[in-house]
Amino acid sequence: MDPATMAAAIQAGQVVFKERQEGCCTSPWFRASCTGSGVAECKKCHFYYCKYHYPVNNGGLQGGHNCN
Ligand SMILES: [Zn+2]
Ligand SMILES: [Zn+2]
Repeated sequence: MDPATMAAAIQAGQVVFKERQEGCCTSPWFRASCTGSGVAECKKCHFYYCKYHYPVNNGGLQGGHNCN
């Protein structure tokens, strides 16, 4: 699903996460931002994240993930 399609789906209130349940481990709330590709394991927390959420970004507003 490309970003434009996803944005339209979100606006329409549809569930857009069904393809995203596996792969990126970010919380469902942020899953709309997932690139959906390039999923890799974080060496620190051992969860899997897409390219967008892979960088460590504790407390950041955009991208990355909280990594402890
Ligand atoms: Zn993601
Ligand atoms: Zn991590």
